[in-house]
Amino acid sequence: MHDVYQLIKNSDFPVIFRDELKCIQINMGYRCNQSCVHCHVNAGPNRNEMMDRKTVNEIINFISKNNIDKIDITGGAPELNPYFTYLIEKSKKLGCHVIDRSNLTVLLEPGMNSLVNFLKKYNVEIIASLPCYSSENVNQQRGKGVFEKSICALIKLNNIGYGINKKLPLNLVYNPQGDNLPGNQKLLENQYKSYLYKKYKIKFNRLYTITNMPISRFGSYLISKGKFHTYMNLLKNTSNTDHLNNVMCKTLISIDYKGYVYDCDFNQMLNMGISGRKKLHISKLSIQDLYKKSIKTGEHCYGCIAGNGSSCEGNLKND
Ligand code: SF4
Ligand code: SF4
Repeated sequence: MHDVYQLIKNSDFPVIFRDELKCIQINMGYRCNQSCVHCHVNAGPNRNEMMDRKTVNEIINFISKNNIDKIDITGGAPELNPYFTYLIEKSKKLGCHVIDRSNLTVLLEPGMNSLVNFLKKYNVEIIASLPCYSSENVNQQRGKGVFEKSICALIKLNNIGYGINKKLPLNLVYNPQGDNLPGNQKLLENQYKSYLYKKYKIKFNRLYTITNMPISRFGSYLISKGKFHTYMNLLKNTSNTDHLNNVMCKTLISIDYKGYVYDCDFNQMLNMGISGRKKLHISKLSIQDLYKKSIKTGEHCYGCIAGNGSSCEGNLKND
C-alpha cells in the first residue's frame, strides 16, 4: 500500500473548532468478511485487530460519566467482534441511541442467525452499505456475490420490521464507484427506492451519499493509477466552505480498537491523533479536553466539503 499520509499532511484546509460532543464513533476492529476496493479502513478477513472487553468497558465508563446519547459502531464488520452485543446492551442501559454500521452480508455469515433479532430487540439503527442498486457495480466494488447477499439481508431485515417500523430505521449508504463525486442525494434515494421496491419489494428509510476519501486503500489505488492529484483537485475545486459548520468532526470523536481518540474515523486511519495529543486514550479523556478545541485537519478534509458535502450521515446540504 502507498503511504498517503505524506501527501495529505500539509494542507491549506481552514482551521475548524469543535462544538458540543454528541456522538462517539467506535471502531471495534479491522476484521471484515469483505475487502472492498474503496475501503478507507483497509479492512478484510485477514485483519486481526479487535477491540477487547477492557476497552469496551472504558468506553462505557466515558459514556456514563458524560451522558453521551449516541454511539455509532463501525469497523471492519463490527458484528464480528465478540463484544459487539455486550457494548450494545451496556450502552442501551445508559439510554444511548445505537447505530450499527453494517455491510449487510455479515448478517448472513455462519453463527449470525440470531443477530438481526438482537438488533431489533434493542432498536439499533442500521446504516448499511449498498453502493449501487446494480448487481454488476456492487460486485465489482465489493466482491463477487455481494449484491445478491446484500439483497437477501435487506429482505431479512424488512421481514422483521426494519425500514418499515418507525423504531427500526434502516438507512443505506451510497458511495461512488471511483474517482468522482456522489450525485444528488435525494434524487439517488428516489431511484434506489423505486428500483429496490419494484424488483425486490425492499423498503428503507434514507439514502446517505458519502464521498470516497483519498486515504487508505482508495488513496493507494489513486496513487497507483496516477490519479491522486487529479482527484484531490476535484475535491478542492468543488469545495464549499459553507459546509465547514456542519462537518461531522465538530460533534463526534472516533475511538480505535485500542481505545485511542481521534477527531474522526478518517484521521484514525491516518493515525492523526486529536490536536496536540497524538495518543490520548478514552480512559484519560475529559470532555473539557474537546470543547472549542481545534480539529486536526489535512488535505483529505476537502473530501468532507467537496460538492454537496459528506459525512457518515450523508451530504451536508440538509435536503
Ligand atoms: S468498506 Fe466496509 S464492508 Fe468493505 S471491507 Fe471496508 S469495512 Fe468491510
Ligand atoms: S476528514 Fe475528519 S477531520 Fe477532516 S473535515 Fe472530515 S471529519 Fe473533519
